[in-house]
Amino acid sequence: MTVTPQQAPKTNLIAYAQQLRAEAEARGEQLPPLLPLHMGEPSFRTPDHIRRAAIATIEQEPISYGPPPGWPWLRTLLAEKVTRVNGYTVRPENVVVTAGGTNALLASFQATLKPGDEVLISDPCFPLYYLQLGTLGVKAVPYTLDPGNDWLPDLEQMEKLITPRTRMLVINTPGNPTGAVFPPQLVHDLLDFARRHKLYLLSDECYDQLVFEGEHVSPGSLLTAGELESNTFIGVYSFSKTYAMTGWRVGYIVTGTGLIRRLEDILLATHTNITLVAQRAAAAALTGPQDCVEEMRAAYQHRRDLAVQLLQEYGRYVYTPHGAFYALIDISPREGRAALDSADFAIKLLEEKQVLTSPGSSYGQVARQYIRISLAASEADIEKGIRAICELADR
Ligand code: PLP
Repeated sequence: MTVTPQQAPKTNLIAYAQQLRAEAEARGEQLPPLLPLHMGEPSFRTPDHIRRAAIATIEQEPISYGPPPGWPWLRTLLAEKVTRVNGYTVRPENVVVTAGGTNALLASFQATLKPGDEVLISDPCFPLYYLQLGTLGVKAVPYTLDPGNDWLPDLEQMEKLITPRTRMLVINTPGNPTGAVFPPQLVHDLLDFARRHKLYLLSDECYDQLVFEGEHVSPGSLLTAGELESNTFIGVYSFSKTYAMTGWRVGYIVTGTGLIRRLEDILLATHTNITLVAQRAAAAALTGPQDCVEEMRAAYQHRRDLAVQLLQEYGRYVYTPHGAFYALIDISPREGRAALDSADFAIKLLEEKQVLTSPGSSYGQVARQYIRISLAASEADIEKGIRAICELADR
């Protein structure tokens, strides 16, 4: 595939990077190494005890078909994790295992929505929300996360977006791409908002254990006794970020048993089960030592601090991410210069500095003047990348 610069951000900036390299090679040139700051891909290896559990499974167990909602022993461990970490009591019957948070999101949308429905999602947000809702014929209605207000939503604005077709509110805290962690009162108010308008509340908590300041409050912990069984709250979780397990594809959904039954059919129809190898690895992650989680979290925090310090140095500091592992960098031009859209900026950055980033325009309208970098990359890459971004923005 040949990618033109104009297509690149929309189709695939990675493909464009590969194309640039192939072209340079054909000319007999060697480009400097690519700085990959574009993906939420931890620079850490999956911890050894988790890998070993997978190897033992392959060597010792039959890798047969398994139950669509996940093996009971894993569902039990997941229910215990939610009770321990997320602060609300659930039973194994309230949990299904999915192929990562991505599959958890799509299965949840499939179980609850129909074409023509409307769903409130944040702008900026994880772009797969748009993609997934689009495949289901569901309309994504964006509510604004305001950079001037620590990337938090405004309930008054959200009220105005409600129509008779609104079915669901999606929230994501700690948030991608903002790094915002919603304060407890806001989570409380959002839950109330969903209740008042009789909406499903889907809480994407894929970064629940990656918090630097404040605390992550799951709306699940604010439900009244028995409210989980009203099947209106859906918690989405993942092993990808917490345990550096992106490629293993393990996530899970927590909700009422009524919705779980529908989800079981959807998962059966989708992939029948995720592999036993990954489920054993996930179990090892939950039962093994948790120091690795804290060590990686602390490393991301250190990288976050480094990013903040560099952005202050360049006069481009906007916000200190409180969680997840991303930073949005304001690339607005200095006085008198014409603004470059973030997609064009990302192309220029790649062509001139070999830095691969994610343009803010991939996340909606609000962050069009921002570039997202991943703080899951190595410190050296983060520093080089931020310097390159700020120097290009200042030119
Ligand atoms: N939700 C958010 C907000 C994300 O940022 C991601 C991945 O980057 C996911 C869900 C899906 O993660 P995975 O499918 O790897 O579990």
